Amino acid sequence: MEKHINIPIFIPHEGCRNDCVFCNQRTITGMAERADRDIRPEIDLALSTYGGNAKNAEIAFFGGSFTGIGIPLMTRLLDDAYEYVKAGKVSSIRLSTRPDYIDDEILGILKSRGVTDIELGLQSMRDSVLLASNRGHTALCSEKACALIKKYGFTLTGQMMIGLPSSTLSDEIYTAEKIVEMGCDCARIYPTVVFENTKLCEMAKNGSYSTLTVDEAVARSAAVYGVFVKNDVQVLRIGLQSTEMLQKGENVYAGANHSALGELVIGRYYADIIEKNFDILSKNASKSRILIIKCAPGEQSKISGQKKKNVIALKEELKEKNAEYGAIKIISDNNVEKNTLEFEFSTLELKKGTEFCT
Ligand code: SF4
Repeated sequence: MEKHINIPIFIPHEGCRNDCVFCNQRTITGMAERADRDIRPEIDLALSTYGGNAKNAEIAFFGGSFTGIGIPLMTRLLDDAYEYVKAGKVSSIRLSTRPDYIDDEILGILKSRGVTDIELGLQSMRDSVLLASNRGHTALCSEKACALIKKYGFTLTGQMMIGLPSSTLSDEIYTAEKIVEMGCDCARIYPTVVFENTKLCEMAKNGSYSTLTVDEAVARSAAVYGVFVKNDVQVLRIGLQSTEMLQKGENVYAGANHSALGELVIGRYYADIIEKNFDILSKNASKSRILIIKCAPGEQSKISGQKKKNVIALKEELKEKNAEYGAIKIISDNNVEKNTLEFEFSTLELKKGTEFCT
Protein backbone atom coordinates (compact mmCIF):
# COMPACT_ATOMS: atom_id res chain seq x y z
CA MET A 1 0.00 0.00 0.00
CA GLU A 2 1.33 3.43 -0.93
CA LYS A 3 2.34 5.70 1.89
CA HIS A 4 0.04 8.54 2.92
CA ILE A 5 1.82 11.82 3.58
CA ASN A 6 0.87 14.95 5.40
CA ILE A 7 2.83 17.98 4.27
CA PRO A 8 3.02 19.82 7.59
CA ILE A 9 2.93 23.59 7.56
CA PHE A 10 3.60 24.72 11.11
CA ILE A 11 1.93 27.90 12.35
CA PRO A 12 3.36 28.15 15.87
CA HIS A 13 1.24 29.99 18.41
CA GLU A 14 0.72 33.10 16.27
CA GLY A 15 -2.88 32.19 15.62
CA CYS A 16 -3.57 31.87 19.30
CA ARG A 17 -4.43 34.60 21.73
CA ASN A 18 -4.57 32.15 24.60
CA ASP A 19 -1.98 30.76 27.00
CA CYS A 20 -2.83 27.23 28.05
CA VAL A 21 -0.76 26.22 31.08
CA PHE A 22 0.87 23.33 29.19
CA CYS A 23 1.61 25.17 25.95
CA ASN A 24 5.01 25.78 24.57
CA GLN A 25 4.35 25.53 20.86
CA ARG A 26 7.84 26.57 19.89
CA THR A 27 9.27 23.67 21.87
CA ILE A 28 6.79 21.21 20.41
CA THR A 29 7.40 22.17 16.82
CA GLY A 30 11.11 22.78 17.32
CA MET A 31 10.92 25.83 15.07
CA ALA A 32 9.78 29.42 15.24
CA GLU A 33 8.76 30.37 11.73
CA ARG A 34 6.26 33.10 11.10
CA ALA A 35 2.78 32.36 9.77
CA ASP A 36 2.95 35.07 7.09
CA ARG A 37 5.73 33.35 5.14
CA ASP A 38 5.53 31.94 1.63
CA ILE A 39 4.54 28.30 2.18
CA ARG A 40 4.91 27.21 -1.45
CA PRO A 41 8.63 26.31 -1.28
CA GLU A 42 7.90 24.01 1.69
CA ILE A 43 5.12 22.25 -0.22
CA ASP A 44 7.23 21.99 -3.40
CA LEU A 45 10.13 20.50 -1.45
CA ALA A 46 7.92 17.91 0.26
CA LEU A 47 6.33 16.93 -3.06
CA SER A 48 9.68 16.67 -4.83
CA THR A 49 10.88 14.04 -2.37
CA TYR A 50 7.52 12.23 -2.18
CA GLY A 51 6.90 11.29 -5.78
CA GLY A 52 3.82 9.21 -4.87
CA ASN A 53 0.19 9.40 -5.85
CA ALA A 54 -1.50 12.80 -5.25
CA LYS A 55 -4.52 11.14 -3.69
CA ASN A 56 -2.32 10.10 -0.77
CA ALA A 57 -0.88 13.55 -0.08
CA GLU A 58 -2.47 16.24 2.10
CA ILE A 59 -1.39 19.71 3.14
CA ALA A 60 -1.74 20.03 6.92
CA PHE A 61 -1.72 23.33 8.80
CA PHE A 62 -0.67 22.30 12.30
CA GLY A 63 0.98 23.73 15.34
CA GLY A 64 -1.12 26.65 16.53
CA SER A 65 -4.69 27.74 16.06
CA PHE A 66 -4.94 28.21 12.34
CA THR A 67 -8.35 29.87 12.16
CA GLY A 68 -7.26 32.48 14.71
CA ILE A 69 -4.57 34.08 12.54
CA GLY A 70 -7.01 36.57 11.01
CA ILE A 71 -9.09 36.18 7.88
CA PRO A 72 -6.80 37.96 5.36
CA LEU A 73 -3.73 35.86 6.23
CA MET A 74 -5.74 32.66 6.62
CA THR A 75 -7.34 33.19 3.21
CA ARG A 76 -3.97 33.90 1.59
CA LEU A 77 -2.41 30.71 3.02
CA LEU A 78 -5.43 28.65 2.02
CA ASP A 79 -5.46 30.10 -1.48
CA ASP A 80 -1.81 29.12 -1.90
CA ALA A 81 -2.49 25.60 -0.61
CA TYR A 82 -5.67 25.24 -2.67
CA GLU A 83 -3.69 25.82 -5.89
CA TYR A 84 -2.02 22.44 -5.23
CA VAL A 85 -5.41 20.75 -4.78
CA LYS A 86 -6.77 22.28 -7.99
CA ALA A 87 -3.62 21.23 -9.88
CA GLY A 88 -4.11 17.64 -8.65
CA LYS A 89 -0.79 17.64 -6.78
CA VAL A 90 -2.40 16.92 -3.40
CA SER A 91 -5.83 15.57 -2.50
CA SER A 92 -6.93 17.93 0.26
CA ILE A 93 -6.11 20.30 3.09
CA ARG A 94 -6.45 19.68 6.84
CA LEU A 95 -5.88 21.98 9.77
CA SER A 96 -6.02 22.17 13.54
CA THR A 97 -7.57 24.90 15.62
CA ARG A 98 -9.41 25.77 18.83
CA PRO A 99 -13.18 25.37 19.37
CA ASP A 100 -13.65 29.10 20.03
CA TYR A 101 -12.12 30.00 16.65
CA ILE A 102 -14.92 28.33 14.71
CA ASP A 103 -17.95 30.12 13.27
CA ASP A 104 -20.04 30.17 10.08
CA GLU A 105 -17.85 32.72 8.31
CA ILE A 106 -14.65 30.76 8.98
CA LEU A 107 -16.17 27.42 8.00
CA GLY A 108 -17.53 28.93 4.78
CA ILE A 109 -14.00 30.11 3.88
CA LEU A 110 -12.48 26.70 4.66
CA LYS A 111 -15.17 24.87 2.68
CA SER A 112 -14.62 27.01 -0.42
CA ARG A 113 -10.84 26.40 -0.39
CA GLY A 114 -10.42 22.64 -0.37
CA VAL A 115 -10.27 21.99 3.38
CA THR A 116 -11.77 18.58 4.15
CA ASP A 117 -10.56 17.79 7.67
CA ILE A 118 -10.64 19.91 10.82
CA GLU A 119 -8.90 18.90 14.02
CA LEU A 120 -10.17 20.54 17.18
CA GLY A 121 -8.08 20.80 20.32
CA LEU A 122 -10.79 19.85 22.79
CA GLN A 123 -8.38 18.57 25.48
CA SER A 124 -11.12 17.93 28.05
CA MET A 125 -14.91 18.08 28.17
CA ARG A 126 -14.90 18.97 31.87
CA ASP A 127 -15.13 22.72 32.59
CA SER A 128 -13.13 22.27 35.82
CA VAL A 129 -10.19 20.82 33.85
CA LEU A 130 -10.44 23.46 31.11
CA LEU A 131 -10.38 26.18 33.76
CA ALA A 132 -7.44 24.66 35.65
CA SER A 133 -5.57 24.45 32.33
CA ASN A 134 -6.42 28.05 31.37
CA ARG A 135 -7.91 26.88 28.10
CA GLY A 136 -10.09 29.95 27.76
CA HIS A 137 -13.20 28.16 26.50
CA THR A 138 -15.89 25.92 27.92
CA ALA A 139 -17.04 22.40 27.10
CA LEU A 140 -20.27 23.90 25.71
CA CYS A 141 -18.20 25.96 23.26
CA SER A 142 -16.55 22.70 22.08
CA GLU A 143 -19.95 21.05 21.62
CA LYS A 144 -21.20 23.95 19.52
CA ALA A 145 -18.04 23.98 17.38
CA CYS A 146 -18.23 20.24 16.73
CA ALA A 147 -21.90 20.46 15.75
CA LEU A 148 -21.20 23.34 13.33
CA ILE A 149 -18.22 21.55 11.74
CA LYS A 150 -20.32 18.42 11.20
CA LYS A 151 -23.15 20.54 9.75
CA TYR A 152 -20.73 21.82 7.10
CA GLY A 153 -19.72 18.24 6.28
CA PHE A 154 -16.05 18.29 7.34
CA THR A 155 -14.26 15.23 8.67
CA LEU A 156 -13.74 16.01 12.34
CA THR A 157 -10.89 14.90 14.61
CA GLY A 158 -11.09 15.50 18.35
CA GLN A 159 -7.79 15.96 20.15
CA MET A 160 -7.78 15.24 23.88
CA MET A 161 -5.19 15.24 26.62
CA ILE A 162 -4.47 12.88 29.49
CA GLY A 163 -3.27 14.09 32.89
CA LEU A 164 -4.20 17.79 32.71
CA PRO A 165 -4.46 19.67 36.03
CA SER A 166 -7.36 18.32 38.14
CA SER A 167 -8.20 15.70 35.48
CA THR A 168 -8.88 12.10 36.56
CA LEU A 169 -9.23 8.88 34.61
CA SER A 170 -13.02 9.18 34.86
CA ASP A 171 -12.87 12.75 33.40
CA GLU A 172 -10.81 11.39 30.52
CA ILE A 173 -13.18 8.52 29.81
CA TYR A 174 -16.05 11.04 29.92
CA THR A 175 -14.17 13.26 27.44
CA ALA A 176 -13.61 10.32 25.08
CA GLU A 177 -17.31 9.41 25.30
CA LYS A 178 -18.27 13.01 24.53
CA ILE A 179 -15.91 13.02 21.54
CA VAL A 180 -17.77 9.97 20.25
CA GLU A 181 -21.17 11.53 20.99
CA MET A 182 -20.25 14.80 19.23
CA GLY A 183 -19.67 12.86 16.03
CA CYS A 184 -15.87 12.99 15.72
CA ASP A 185 -14.63 10.66 13.01
CA CYS A 186 -11.11 10.42 14.41
CA ALA A 187 -9.25 11.21 17.62
CA ARG A 188 -5.76 11.97 18.87
CA ILE A 189 -4.69 11.21 22.44
CA TYR A 190 -1.97 13.37 23.95
CA PRO A 191 -0.72 12.49 27.44
CA THR A 192 0.61 15.64 29.08
CA VAL A 193 4.30 16.48 28.77
CA VAL A 194 5.52 19.27 31.07
CA PHE A 195 7.79 21.64 29.19
CA GLU A 196 10.25 23.99 30.85
CA ASN A 197 9.21 27.65 30.99
CA THR A 198 5.49 26.94 31.05
CA LYS A 199 2.94 27.68 33.74
CA LEU A 200 2.47 23.94 34.16
CA CYS A 201 6.16 23.55 34.91
CA GLU A 202 5.83 26.21 37.62
CA MET A 203 2.80 24.37 39.01
CA ALA A 204 4.75 21.10 39.04
CA LYS A 205 7.66 22.76 40.80
CA ASN A 206 5.48 24.40 43.46
CA GLY A 207 3.53 21.18 44.05
CA SER A 208 0.15 22.35 42.75
CA TYR A 209 0.28 19.87 39.86
CA SER A 210 1.31 16.19 40.00
CA THR A 211 3.17 15.16 36.88
CA LEU A 212 2.13 12.07 35.00
CA THR A 213 4.49 9.09 34.91
CA VAL A 214 4.83 7.13 31.68
CA ASP A 215 3.12 4.12 33.33
CA GLU A 216 0.14 6.23 34.44
CA ALA A 217 -0.09 7.82 31.00
CA VAL A 218 -0.07 4.39 29.36
CA ALA A 219 -2.81 2.97 31.62
CA ARG A 220 -5.10 5.99 31.28
CA SER A 221 -4.56 6.34 27.53
CA ALA A 222 -5.29 2.63 27.04
CA ALA A 223 -8.67 3.04 28.77
CA VAL A 224 -9.50 6.01 26.53
CA TYR A 225 -8.24 4.14 23.44
CA GLY A 226 -10.72 1.37 24.33
CA VAL A 227 -13.62 3.86 24.24
CA PHE A 228 -12.64 4.96 20.74
CA VAL A 229 -12.13 1.40 19.47
CA LYS A 230 -15.54 0.34 20.81
CA ASN A 231 -17.20 3.22 18.96
CA ASP A 232 -15.29 2.96 15.67
CA VAL A 233 -13.51 6.28 16.10
CA GLN A 234 -10.13 5.95 14.43
CA VAL A 235 -7.21 6.95 16.65
CA LEU A 236 -4.73 8.82 14.44
CA ARG A 237 -2.01 9.30 17.04
CA ILE A 238 -1.12 8.66 20.67
CA GLY A 239 1.56 10.94 22.13
CA LEU A 240 3.36 13.93 20.69
CA GLN A 241 5.10 13.63 17.35
CA SER A 242 8.68 12.72 18.16
CA THR A 243 11.21 15.45 17.43
CA GLU A 244 14.95 15.51 18.03
CA MET A 245 14.38 17.79 21.03
CA LEU A 246 11.82 15.46 22.55
CA GLN A 247 14.05 12.44 21.97
CA LYS A 248 16.87 14.15 23.84
CA GLY A 249 14.42 15.33 26.51
CA GLU A 250 15.51 18.93 25.90
CA ASN A 251 13.13 21.45 27.49
CA VAL A 252 11.12 18.61 29.01
CA TYR A 253 10.69 18.89 32.78
CA ALA A 254 8.52 15.79 33.35
CA GLY A 255 5.53 13.85 32.05
CA ALA A 256 4.74 11.30 29.41
CA ASN A 257 7.66 11.81 27.04
CA HIS A 258 8.41 8.41 25.48
CA SER A 259 9.25 7.79 21.84
CA ALA A 260 7.15 4.58 21.68
CA LEU A 261 4.19 5.79 23.73
CA GLY A 262 1.60 4.72 21.14
CA GLU A 263 2.98 1.19 21.04
CA LEU A 264 3.03 0.99 24.85
CA VAL A 265 -0.59 2.17 25.03
CA ILE A 266 -1.82 -0.34 22.46
CA GLY A 267 0.19 -3.07 24.23
CA ARG A 268 -1.55 -2.15 27.48
CA TYR A 269 -4.93 -2.12 25.72
CA TYR A 270 -4.33 -5.71 24.57
CA ALA A 271 -3.05 -6.69 28.03
CA ASP A 272 -6.34 -5.39 29.45
CA ILE A 273 -8.31 -7.62 27.02
CA ILE A 274 -6.22 -10.61 28.11
CA GLU A 275 -6.86 -9.70 31.77
CA LYS A 276 -10.63 -9.52 31.16
CA ASN A 277 -10.47 -13.07 29.77
CA PHE A 278 -8.21 -14.37 32.52
CA ASP A 279 -10.84 -16.69 34.05
CA ILE A 280 -11.39 -18.50 30.74
CA LEU A 281 -7.65 -18.69 30.15
CA SER A 282 -6.94 -20.14 33.58
CA LYS A 283 -9.82 -22.64 33.40
CA ASN A 284 -8.53 -24.07 30.14
CA ALA A 285 -4.88 -24.21 31.14
CA SER A 286 -2.99 -27.47 30.94
CA LYS A 287 0.69 -28.25 30.40
CA SER A 288 -0.29 -30.42 27.43
CA ARG A 289 -2.07 -27.52 25.73
CA ILE A 290 -0.95 -24.51 23.76
CA LEU A 291 -2.75 -21.24 24.30
CA ILE A 292 -3.11 -19.60 20.89
CA ILE A 293 -3.84 -15.88 20.90
CA LYS A 294 -5.05 -14.80 17.47
CA CYS A 295 -4.80 -11.21 16.34
CA ALA A 296 -4.99 -9.09 13.21
CA PRO A 297 -1.87 -9.00 11.00
CA GLY A 298 0.82 -6.63 12.26
CA GLU A 299 -0.34 -6.67 15.88
CA GLN A 300 1.74 -9.54 17.31
CA SER A 301 4.55 -7.51 18.82
CA LYS A 302 2.08 -5.08 20.44
CA ILE A 303 0.28 -7.98 22.14
CA SER A 304 3.50 -9.53 23.28
CA GLY A 305 4.49 -6.11 24.66
CA GLN A 306 7.92 -4.53 25.01
CA LYS A 307 10.43 -7.21 26.05
CA LYS A 308 7.51 -9.68 25.96
CA LYS A 309 6.17 -8.01 29.09
CA ASN A 310 2.51 -8.98 28.51
CA VAL A 311 3.22 -12.66 27.89
CA ILE A 312 5.56 -12.88 30.89
CA ALA A 313 2.92 -11.22 33.11
CA LEU A 314 0.24 -13.61 31.86
CA LYS A 315 2.45 -16.64 32.51
CA GLU A 316 3.20 -15.46 36.04
CA GLU A 317 -0.44 -14.76 36.80
CA LEU A 318 -1.42 -18.20 35.50
CA LYS A 319 1.33 -19.82 37.54
CA GLU A 320 -0.01 -18.20 40.71
CA LYS A 321 -3.30 -20.03 40.04
CA ASN A 322 -1.44 -23.29 39.32
CA ALA A 323 -2.57 -22.96 35.74
CA GLU A 324 0.13 -23.42 33.12
CA TYR A 325 0.22 -23.96 29.38
CA GLY A 326 2.84 -25.94 27.47
CA ALA A 327 3.33 -22.75 25.45
CA ILE A 328 1.66 -19.49 24.58
CA LYS A 329 1.63 -18.64 20.91
CA ILE A 330 0.55 -15.37 19.30
CA ILE A 331 -0.40 -15.71 15.65
CA SER A 332 -1.84 -13.31 13.12
CA ASP A 333 -5.05 -14.21 11.32
CA ASN A 334 -6.68 -12.23 8.52
CA ASN A 335 -10.11 -13.05 9.92
CA VAL A 336 -9.45 -11.33 13.23
CA GLU A 337 -10.31 -7.64 13.37
CA LYS A 338 -7.73 -5.12 14.53
CA ASN A 339 -8.05 -4.29 18.24
CA THR A 340 -9.68 -7.63 19.03
CA LEU A 341 -8.26 -10.97 20.17
CA GLU A 342 -9.45 -14.55 19.83
CA PHE A 343 -8.27 -17.40 22.03
CA GLU A 344 -7.84 -21.04 21.08
CA PHE A 345 -6.70 -23.93 23.23
CA SER A 346 -4.82 -26.43 21.13
CA THR A 347 -3.98 -29.93 22.30
CA LEU A 348 -1.49 -30.39 19.49
CA GLU A 349 1.87 -31.76 20.43
CA LEU A 350 4.61 -29.15 20.53
CA LYS A 351 6.56 -29.74 17.38
CA LYS A 352 10.30 -29.37 17.38
CA GLY A 353 11.33 -26.22 15.56
CA THR A 354 7.91 -24.55 15.86
CA GLU A 355 8.33 -20.84 16.31
CA PHE A 356 6.43 -19.44 19.25
CA CYS A 357 5.98 -15.83 20.10
CA THR A 358 6.12 -16.35 23.87
S1 SF4 B 1 -4.71 26.80 22.18
FE1 SF4 B 1 -2.96 25.67 21.43
S2 SF4 B 1 -1.53 27.20 20.66
FE2 SF4 B 1 -3.02 28.26 21.94
S3 SF4 B 1 -2.06 28.37 23.95
FE3 SF4 B 1 -3.34 26.57 23.93
S4 SF4 B 1 -2.02 24.88 23.28
FE4 SF4 B 1 -0.98 26.81 22.79
